[in-house]
Amino acid sequence: MAKITLEKLAHSYFPYPKSEADFALKEINHVWDDGGAYALLGPSGCGKTTLLNIISGLLTPSTGNIIFGDQNVTRLQPEQRDIAQVFQFPVIYDTMTVAENLAFPLINRQVPKDEISRRVAEMIDILDLGAKANRKAKGLTADEKQKISLGRGLVRHDVNAILFDEPLTVIDPHMKWQLRTKLKDLHRQFEHTMIYVTHDQTEALTFADKVVVMYEGEVVQIGTPEELFDRPAHTFVGYFIGSPGMNVVPADVQGQTAQIGNYKVALTKSYGDLNGNIELGIRPEFVKISEDTKGMPIQITAVEDIGRYKIIRATVDGKPLDAVMPEGESVPTHPTALLDSSKINIYKDSHLVRVEA
Ligand code: ATP
Repeated sequence: MAKITLEKLAHSYFPYPKSEADFALKEINHVWDDGGAYALLGPSGCGKTTLLNIISGLLTPSTGNIIFGDQNVTRLQPEQRDIAQVFQFPVIYDTMTVAENLAFPLINRQVPKDEISRRVAEMIDILDLGAKANRKAKGLTADEKQKISLGRGLVRHDVNAILFDEPLTVIDPHMKWQLRTKLKDLHRQFEHTMIYVTHDQTEALTFADKVVVMYEGEVVQIGTPEELFDRPAHTFVGYFIGSPGMNVVPADVQGQTAQIGNYKVALTKSYGDLNGNIELGIRPEFVKISEDTKGMPIQITAVEDIGRYKIIRATVDGKPLDAVMPEGESVPTHPTALLDSSKINIYKDSHLVRVEA
């Protein structure tokens, strides 16, 4: 296992990039902890696979270095990097049995025979494939084949990192949850450095200790699930994490007061003489709908009953504002919205404004 240092790393698929817009991966500088579980999360085209391929060695970055432990591996081929990879679709040998597939990466590395038997048996047990151990992979379901793929990545102990590229895409929803939990357990057990690419926030948040959120080629935040929820560093993170996402409402901020239309909201921090293109971010969970005259008058456009709670879609001063209403509360006739001041974040040009309390 190794810590992974990304040093001034950037990549453009153009031979002569002219501007920042030509970079599929904008400059990133970061150290990922040895034994950490990281998820690369973001929408299609944001650069996740580009970054993963640079880490695995399938792609050489236009600039910067990638360092495993103390070794600069930027110019090394994938097979020289001691990494295991699990792809979106199963990569297994159909003519081999489940056990033979799992043993294969170990035989290749000349691991002693009894050690191979021990580790293969352990992996079969962990993946719950006991009943199929001696069956040829050919006739197995897509789920089972992908389990073998996961096993082939996890069976090795001598890896710097295990990279997963959307590995649960072909898995049925119930099994997805099981496998995700299993991966988490395996991470705890073996403490491999794991990097998991996904565009699914649930997968990212349940798997990772730290989630790396990417947007338009840029790493916009690296944080724990809690940090991403409480203090999104970029409005995109607020919007992308959470369901529904964070409200982002244009506002004027003067000192310790934000103004939305004619309505003033007291802030818990002072933003001095900050002005210009400012947005107020608040999660729907912290918007209370009632008839309280102290609240902002809102127009409700839709009510979505999710069962345990309702999602209220509304507008304030013509701008969208979502709220979450607990089960059992009814939608008022003259609704107003009260914002929980302690949960408000202020953004300028989409980036979080950090101030002392
Ligand atoms: P997805 O979830 O759809 O796989 P992603 O977040 O992994 O997306 P990348 O595949 O890294 O995104 O793509 C980032 C950008 O780089 C996109 O604009 C994509 O069109 C571009 N790109 C990716 N591969 C190449 C390539 N081989 N040549 C040119 N441009 C590429």
